[in-house]
Amino acid sequence: MKKAIKFLLILLMFAAIVLSLVIMFPKKCARVWITVTGKPKNVAIRLYLYGLFGLFLATGGLSMFVLFPLYKQAFAPRAKLSELPVFKLWAHIYKVIWRSVTDGAYRKMYPSEITDPPKLNTDRSLVEIKPTWAGEDGNCDACENTCCGRLKCPLFGENGRCLGYDSIFFNYFYCGRYPENQAQIDYYDCPKWQLKE
Ligand code: SF4
Ligand code: SF4
Repeated sequence: MKKAIKFLLILLMFAAIVLSLVIMFPKKCARVWITVTGKPKNVAIRLYLYGLFGLFLATGGLSMFVLFPLYKQAFAPRAKLSELPVFKLWAHIYKVIWRSVTDGAYRKMYPSEITDPPKLNTDRSLVEIKPTWAGEDGNCDACENTCCGRLKCPLFGENGRCLGYDSIFFNYFYCGRYPENQAQIDYYDCPKWQLKE
């Protein structure tokens, strides 16, 4: 009985907070509501990934080993187990978090909204190939300064193959959609892409 009362009180408190926010910021709340309910799948998938990151942080990375199938599915579903440098990945996640906190230029590269759809390829409606690009349109073989290599991404496999290709991480964060803003092009000093006018 006591538990039920406690639960009811928490529920009432939560309702009161939500109601107060709606009264104080009606327009903002409406915008958030439309955004979230309008693209539920994209939001749900990103929240799932944030959850995996959160769990990783909360457990010091232990969750990645305990729930390995979930993490593998989210980050490298197509890679063979033997190809994955698990401990390097563990360290890399901390490196990415550290950079995100300390490096403003790095943070600017993540403009995606929580509702943005996944992208598996560079969006040609946003960017175009620079006239100075010496390589082929369809690959980056002519680039000496590969973005993945510079990032020292542990999913950058042999022969430049991305072990994370087509994962939730790849499709919903900036790998699949790279580049889509100037900050990304600048950060990696990309010789191939420029923003469309
Ligand atoms: S920096 Fe640009 S050209 Fe080089 S690998 Fe990355 S996308 Fe390709
Ligand atoms: S695209 Fe590059 S940075 Fe992204 S997961 Fe693949 S190897 Fe890593």
